[in-house]
Amino acid sequence: MSRIAYVNGRYVPHGSAQVHVEDRGYQFADAVYEVCEVFDGKIVDMTRHLDRLDRSLRELSIGWPVARPALERILREVVDRNRVTYGLVYLQVSRGVARRDFPFPPAGTKPALVVTSRAIPRTVAAKVADEGIRVITTPDIRWQRVDIKTTGLLAQVLAKENAKRHGGKEAWMYDADGNVTEGGSSNAWIVTADGVLVTRPAESGILKGITRAAVMDFAAREGLKVEERPFTIDEAKHAREAFVTSATGIVSPVVQIDDAILGNGHPGVLASDLRRRFHEGVELLPVRAY
Ligand code: PMP
Repeated sequence: MSRIAYVNGRYVPHGSAQVHVEDRGYQFADAVYEVCEVFDGKIVDMTRHLDRLDRSLRELSIGWPVARPALERILREVVDRNRVTYGLVYLQVSRGVARRDFPFPPAGTKPALVVTSRAIPRTVAAKVADEGIRVITTPDIRWQRVDIKTTGLLAQVLAKENAKRHGGKEAWMYDADGNVTEGGSSNAWIVTADGVLVTRPAESGILKGITRAAVMDFAAREGLKVEERPFTIDEAKHAREAFVTSATGIVSPVVQIDDAILGNGHPGVLASDLRRRFHEGVELLPVRAY
């Protein structure tokens, strides 16, 4: 079956889907994006993802490319047309197409919208659950507005490529004080000896992850203690457990940080439980309205 992408009002074959060379997303990374998990044919936490999209757009003074209900329909349609049951749906909004010039383009320039979706084999998730992942640390060299979900991801490209070269699945970036900021495309967590979940406050140096919020909700319901505070790489290496959260990876146990093996080298009990039960409390939107 051939894949379908949505590009500026049209559903087109993925292989020939194109944007203009002067799209500001392409020229300047003047664009924002969202990724939602597709689980059992349902889009996970779409409301929260679109709320964050709204914030990203407002922070950058980019307009909505289509009204929100229309975007919701497009997301569902793209997942449906691609017959994705487990995987992801990706959306990107750029400031639009205009002659290459740094200041904003003329009023009336239409924001551009691209939506794609793809399946992720269940075996990938099963391997992460069974074996956990290794993370490789690297200095955080990003700009200061990492709270906005922009497509300017070159620092993460380099960090994750470096992680891959060293046998890691994710990079953990750290700030000038040696505190972990976040993963290349995930939020970072540790579990203390007392069973407290620790993650960096969302106010500085990280993207406020939707999966992070879902884990916090889960913790609140289950009476687990969460502490929002910075932690160092050294603390993480000696933690009882560690894990990362992201829409596509949900809760991924970390079993090794650089050369330090955590605990017994197997996914932690708490992280595994959070992963197994993750979808209990999230919003699940069926792709097809029956
Ligand atoms: N931090 C960064 C830098 C990310 O790219 C992502 C994933 N897009 C996350 C955190 C996790 O966010 P979410 O749970 O909303 O996917």
